[in-house]
Amino acid sequence: MSKPKILVVEDNAMNLELVSDVLEAHGYQVIQADTGQKALEIAGREQPDLILMDIQLPEMDGLEVTRLLKENEQTSHIRVIALTAHAMRGDEERAREAGCSGYIAKPINTREFAAVIAGYLGDPQGDLGGKV
Ligand code: MN
Repeated sequence: MSKPKILVVEDNAMNLELVSDVLEAHGYQVIQADTGQKALEIAGREQPDLILMDIQLPEMDGLEVTRLLKENEQTSHIRVIALTAHAMRGDEERAREAGCSGYIAKPINTREFAAVIAGYLGDPQGDLGGKV
């Protein structure tokens, strides 16, 4: 079984490394993008199993990137999970309206993060069933 591939879109280098490290430690293959434009290119080319999308990005924000991913038939099937530091009222609703399937608040809880991701990937064993 190949490792699930996750595209992490995050402009903050420390957050990008933290999220990537946690995912890699749990056996996921991680691809990184630090802008929305790169995320669109990489998602089409790499066909990740899941996309984690920072909402606050320079130039094009994560909601706009998600809308474009959902409009493109090459990427519309890929689940997008919003990542945001601003857990404000209405944020989750806006993320869902843009096409996100879920919502994770930053800073991430590193103990629970992998299980949450496994849930979005539909892996009932979590942690890839320890087969890593
Ligand atoms: Mn950001």
